[in-house]
Amino acid sequence: MERFLKKKGNQGSSSKTPELVELDDLPLDPADRKPISTYNVNQGDEIRRTYLLRGPCQPSSVAFPYRMIGNDSRHFPVTWCTNFKGWLEYSIKNDRVYFLHCYLFKDQVKNLQEAIISEGFNGWNRQDKVQRHQGEFNSLHNKAFKMGEDLLNQDQLIQIFVDKKSEKEKSN
Ligand SMILES: [Zn+2]
Repeated sequence: MERFLKKKGNQGSSSKTPELVELDDLPLDPADRKPISTYNVNQGDEIRRTYLLRGPCQPSSVAFPYRMIGNDSRHFPVTWCTNFKGWLEYSIKNDRVYFLHCYLFKDQVKNLQEAIISEGFNGWNRQDKVQRHQGEFNSLHNKAFKMGEDLLNQDQLIQIFVDKKSEKEKSN
């Protein structure tokens, strides 16, 4: 055990542990986000919670850039914000969409490593592809979405517990 600790110390473990970050400094634009796994492991849930409470990045009143797709000039279909409410995000920076929950939980949901999640998507004529990513009830995407809901519910339960406890303490 002692040897193990020494070895770890020699490698300079402090340089390998990422520093804690200010939650207010977490980037807003999905294109600027770092993988959750690159943050300090003790801060993972706190970072996920912050993003979940902020909600998906869906900037309004943006002059969405046009692009030729086939014979049509198209821009980001704003209807996607309602069609995929609660999780679809738009990056102004690189004019692509991202998926909030899949970004947050892709390391925790087995096999959720689609390129579309890390690279984003801009096939504005292909809503079906986003739909396919969302998938059926038991899809990997929905697993990630559920994990987001569970994380927030868990917080609420803790809050209720704390409230009840302090009520009890007051009445005592
Ligand atoms: Zn997803």
